[in-house]
Amino acid sequence: MNAVAKLTLPRGRLRLDEPMARHTSWRVGGPAQRFLEPVDLDDLSAFLAELPAGEPVFWVGLGSNLLVRDGGIAGTVIVTSGTLNRLARLDETHIRVEAGVACAKVARFAARLGLTGAEFLAGIPGTMGGALAMNAGAFGGETWEVVESVETLDRAGRHLERPAADYQVDYRQVNGPAGEWFVAATLCLEPGNSRESTERIRSLLKRRSDTQPMGQASCGSVFRNPPGDFAARLIESSGLKGVCVGGACVSEKHANFIVNVGSASALDIESLIAQVTETVERCHGIRLVPEVRIIGRPAADA
Ligand SMILES: Cc1cc2nc3c(=O)[nH]c(=O)nc-3n(C[C@H](O)[C@H](O)[C@H](O)COP(=O)(O)OP(=O)(O)OC[C@H]3O[C@@H](n4cnc5c(N)ncnc54)[C@H](O)[C@@H]3O)c2cc1C
Repeated sequence: MNAVAKLTLPRGRLRLDEPMARHTSWRVGGPAQRFLEPVDLDDLSAFLAELPAGEPVFWVGLGSNLLVRDGGIAGTVIVTSGTLNRLARLDETHIRVEAGVACAKVARFAARLGLTGAEFLAGIPGTMGGALAMNAGAFGGETWEVVESVETLDRAGRHLERPAADYQVDYRQVNGPAGEWFVAATLCLEPGNSRESTERIRSLLKRRSDTQPMGQASCGSVFRNPPGDFAARLIESSGLKGVCVGGACVSEKHANFIVNVGSASALDIESLIAQVTETVERCHGIRLVPEVRIIGRPAADA
C-alpha cells in the first residue's frame, strides 16, 4: 500500500476510491481503491513496470459484463475505454483495434471500409478488450473467429504480440498465457460490401431492441446457455420472470436479463442470481453458470 502511494504518477488520471457504479452497466458496485485511466500504452506500461508485484490489478473495459460487489475492489483498476482507442486499417483485409475501442465502433469502421465479418459486434456494448476476454458473440458471430493476433501487456508492463493460436477459445471463455491483458488485436475480415454490412448492422440492432430490455441497466445475459438449451427458456419456464430482490428484477422482456430498476445494490443482484440458479436447478435439474464476472468484496468486508 505504501509502496503504491510512492509511485511516480502516471500521465493519465489516477483516482482514489472511485465508485465502480459509475463504470458498470448495472450501475452498481463499491469503490475501487485506485482507478487508473492511462493516456496511452506507454503510460500504462510504465505504470505497471513500477507497480509493486503484490498489488492486485483488475482490467475493465465498459463494465458491461461485470458485477462489482458493494464493498468495492482492493487494488488498482485499469480502465481501457476512452484511452486505448486507436483503430486503423493495416491492409486490404486487416484492421488493428486497441483494447479500449467500443465494439460498435469496430463494426461501423469495418462496414465503412467494405469489410465483412465484424457486423455482429455492433450491438455488444463493451470494448474490444472485453470482447477478447469473453469471446463475446451474437447472432452466430464470435470475436475470436476474426482474430489473427493480439498484443498484450504483462504484469511488468512488457508489450508482447501473440498469434490467436496461443489461446484456447470456447463459448464465452478464453484461456491464454496467465498474467497478461489485451491491449490490441489484429482482425482479419473478408472483402464485402459496405451497404450490405450497414444494412446487416441495422437489422441486428433491431432484433436486439425487439427482444431485449434496452434502456434498462443490465449486463446482458446473466447466465451462459447450457449445452443444447437456452438459459432464458429455463428461467422463464421456472416462473421467474418479474421476480425481484430489492431493486433487481428478472426482466419481463428477456428472462436471462436481470435489470436494475433504479435502486439495486450489488448484493440484491447477487442474491437474485443465487435464487434463479437454485430455482432452475430445482425445476429442471440444470445448474446454470453465470456468464457475468463477479468481483470485489461484500460490503461488510470493506
Ligand atoms: C445490453 C447488453 C447486451 C449484451 N449483449 C451481449 C451479446 O450479445 N454478446 C455477448 O457476448 N455479450 C453481451 N453483453 C455482455 C458484454 O457486453 C460483453 O461480455 C462484452 O464483451 C464486455 O466488454 P466490456 O468492455 O464491457 O468488459 P468488462 O465488463 O469491463 O469486463 C469483462 C471481463 O473482461 C475483462 N477485460 C476487460 N478488458 C480487458 C482487457 N483489455 N484485457 C483482458 N481482460 C479484459 C475484465 O477483467 C472482465 O473479466 C451484453 C451486455 C449488455 C449490457
